[in-house]
Amino acid sequence: MKKYIIIGGGIIGSSIAREIRKRDLGDVVVLEKEPDLGYHASGRNSGVIHSGINQTPGLLKAKICVKGNRMLRDYCRENGIPMSECGTLVIGRDDEEIRILDKLMYMGKELEVPGLKIIDKTELREREPFSNGLVALLSPTGAIVDSKALLKTIAKEAESLGVKYQFGAEVREISDNGAIKTGEETINADFIVNCAGLHADKIAHMMGVGLDYLIIPFKGNYVKVPVPINSMLYQPPDLRFPFLGVHLTKKIDGSVVAGPTATLSFGRENYDGKIEWKELADYFGSMNFIRMALYKEFWENVVKNAKFSISKKAFLEEIQSLTSLNLKKEDLEPAFCGIRAQMVHKNGKMLKDVLIDETENSLHILNAVSPGLTCSLAFAEYIVNDRLVPRG
Ligand SMILES: Cc1cc2nc3c(=O)[nH]c(=O)nc-3n(C[C@H](O)[C@H](O)[C@H](O)COP(=O)(O)OP(=O)(O)OC[C@H]3O[C@@H](n4cnc5c(N)ncnc54)[C@H](O)[C@@H]3O)c2cc1C
Repeated sequence: MKKYIIIGGGIIGSSIAREIRKRDLGDVVVLEKEPDLGYHASGRNSGVIHSGINQTPGLLKAKICVKGNRMLRDYCRENGIPMSECGTLVIGRDDEEIRILDKLMYMGKELEVPGLKIIDKTELREREPFSNGLVALLSPTGAIVDSKALLKTIAKEAESLGVKYQFGAEVREISDNGAIKTGEETINADFIVNCAGLHADKIAHMMGVGLDYLIIPFKGNYVKVPVPINSMLYQPPDLRFPFLGVHLTKKIDGSVVAGPTATLSFGRENYDGKIEWKELADYFGSMNFIRMALYKEFWENVVKNAKFSISKKAFLEEIQSLTSLNLKKEDLEPAFCGIRAQMVHKNGKMLKDVLIDETENSLHILNAVSPGLTCSLAFAEYIVNDRLVPRG
């Protein structure tokens, strides 16, 4: 029986592990460096099951997002995972934004996102009395899920199918013959699938793969706000960047959060704000970062988002623009943050699509950024059907 080692037990690693065992393709062990699941992106996100609007047609993740949305909503219903099928609203506040909504509508139709429609101010206020906007794009298949509960259910199902999880197993070295070193232990595998999220580039580099790419982490901060909404309210995205702007989401526990920002993070796991000097030196000194920093758009984004981190007033203004309620600075209560594993090529360009690199005995999932949660089940199916099964 072929032995697969999956590095990383996030939503991507766990979904792929489950899919491999569902097809009985071999034994599967997941090596996870943390003591439990959900310490990183898969447990620190908006929890939105994206419908596929905002996705650029032609990208693999756009296609997989639309299918993933359908699969994930079915999975949550079948497994009793807390989910709200409330639909997504992207508001248009002026002529320029209304033009972006038309563009999103066009992109969404090309991707066959179901049920898209532009609603007028009256319908918008009926749905969301405290929203701003002259019109909105309604995407009824957008939903919100408890992302930690989802991850735990997928992992539990994977275990019931025979997947073994090893926690506290940080992969530190991989030798040329595929022997994996985690602290004291050396583990051999027939095939390695790298799903290490924020560290996926380092794992790939250990195997001589993806050497042109480096993860530059971008932090997303969220605050709780007292805005009684029923669903989620987005502002039109700046399509030049792979990040969506600050939005309002009604979480499964009933709280409403605003975020995430997209601030350059001072470390891959800098959740508590402690600066990781070694990592900073590594990426600030890289060609990937230096060339990225030559783009004017990059600085526009950095400055805009840095303002939200430094100035509560600036963050408040951004949130205020989504709602007709009069918010005060004291209304913003720090909630949580997540860090995006944004892959940057050495030509300085941020990757928009997921990147899959491979060797004879390994597959590397690089740049599994948003909407990775939405894509997870459909992506795992794609990896197994199109990448693993053809190898035998
Ligand atoms: C702020 C934010 C908001 C988001 N919002 C949404 C959203 O609303 N909807 C959506 O669809 N997507 C969203 N995303 C994207 C989504 O969360 C990610 O695409 C997805 O969680 C990525 O999953 P993953 O398994 O690749 O990564 P992770 O969850 O980071 O899992 C990787 C795992 O690998 C482990 N690991 C790392 N290195 C090693 C090592 N050396 N040895 C062993 N284990 C290792 C880590 O501990 C981790 O558990 C958001 C992301 C962020 C950051």
